[in-house]
Amino acid sequence: MIKLKDILLETDVIPAEAPITKKDAEEIGFDTPEEVEDLSFKFKVRNMPKKENVALHQVITIEIFDLPDGYRKSVKLRPYHLIFGKNSLGIFDAFGVNETAGLTRQGAEEKISKLAAEGKTEIDDAYIGGLVNYAGSELYEFFNLERMKKPGMGKRLLFHEMVHIARNLISLFENPAIDPSKPEWWDDPNATFTNMEDASEEFFAEVQERTGTIADDRWDKLK
Ligand SMILES: [Zn+2]
Repeated sequence: MIKLKDILLETDVIPAEAPITKKDAEEIGFDTPEEVEDLSFKFKVRNMPKKENVALHQVITIEIFDLPDGYRKSVKLRPYHLIFGKNSLGIFDAFGVNETAGLTRQGAEEKISKLAAEGKTEIDDAYIGGLVNYAGSELYEFFNLERMKKPGMGKRLLFHEMVHIARNLISLFENPAIDPSKPEWWDDPNATFTNMEDASEEFFAEVQERTGTIADDRWDKLK
């Protein structure tokens, strides 16, 4: 019996795993097909140099997409850093900083030492479990793999940070007055973040499903 799928394949209606071309890449907002991944939507991945206490550090750019009912056309989200640390120190090592979001490397070291003295690790109580913030003007989403080992905690952190990263990405797209390259940009009264309401709910859903899928895919491979 001839299967419908085979007929479609033969007549080239469904391209069988066709590699992405330069034209395809350009249509979704990328310069070249290199490093484009497909998880039912496409995104570009740039691997960052390996650092101590960092299991994965990638810069993610999601393909251009439209929202339902013409709410927004050609949504091009800003690239963001996706980082999985082996512990809380990972976020400081990833960017080579001693402070981020009011949290300090020293604070992380003290916490980890105190836990170790009690025969514990960050699986029990992390300095940072997950975090969305900025390193300079760079937006990042950070996860602590040690904390994620605690049963149930990995998914909690994935879903928690998914909301924060989505709101940041949406706000950066919607409001050009948000300029993280400016000093004290968060004090600018025009740098308002997008609220979820009836009109924007689908935007939140669409961004969360993408950022969440990428983070979950990476966690799945790392755990
Ligand atoms: Zn939070």
